[in-house]
Amino acid sequence: MGNPSQLRRAHDQLADHGIVMASGSQPKGWPFFLQMLLVGPVPITEPVGQLLNSPAFSRPEALLALSTGQLVELLTEVPRGGQKAGLLRAVAAWWQQEFGEEIVPEWTRELDDYRESLRRIRGLGPATVDELLMFVAELPVFPLDRGTVRVAIRHGWLDLPLEDMESQSFFVQGLATAEIDPRQFAMQISQVAKAYCGREPDCENCPLKPLLPPQGPLNPDSV
Ligand code: SF4
Repeated sequence: MGNPSQLRRAHDQLADHGIVMASGSQPKGWPFFLQMLLVGPVPITEPVGQLLNSPAFSRPEALLALSTGQLVELLTEVPRGGQKAGLLRAVAAWWQQEFGEEIVPEWTRELDDYRESLRRIRGLGPATVDELLMFVAELPVFPLDRGTVRVAIRHGWLDLPLEDMESQSFFVQGLATAEIDPRQFAMQISQVAKAYCGREPDCENCPLKPLLPPQGPLNPDSV
């Protein structure tokens, strides 16, 4: 298991290579929730921005008033948007049940309550749920998607077999101790994982190479 100083070094190393969170303000509440589901925390294109600001998407009850077919049509500008029409309807129903007509609510329930109820929605995996809860609700949780887990295992930050509480504690407490914005770090690791740390790690060209253990990436074939 790693320690917070490793997270600090990784953050700084990536920042030195220009891998940082895009600047600019994010929306809050329901619009950000929808944005995360459609395109993630990245800067949005003009058509997606227009869609998110349109009356049909501005409130969960308005979205629920549309049929799946109407939604598919509206989502043509979003990559793979049509496939998400059913998911958006399910999420809008969840939001209404959870927050009523509040668009920027207080997230006052326990983290695990939100995690459990969102994971029951078909199409939302554990890492996506944690991503929503970290980025939108700003709750103390860290999304462990496949790319993040690869980087963490290969650098010895996490040990196999992965244990959820231990892994969460490493990132949530570690980033707080290292005074790193978890949203910034999640985006940095996600970018590095996508660019370099696939099934076959491309350590030679990766900015995190100087931080590898002396023997190279750990368990390179197991994640
Ligand atoms: S590619 Fe290599 S150096 Fe880069 S994150 Fe993966 S294991 Fe680390």
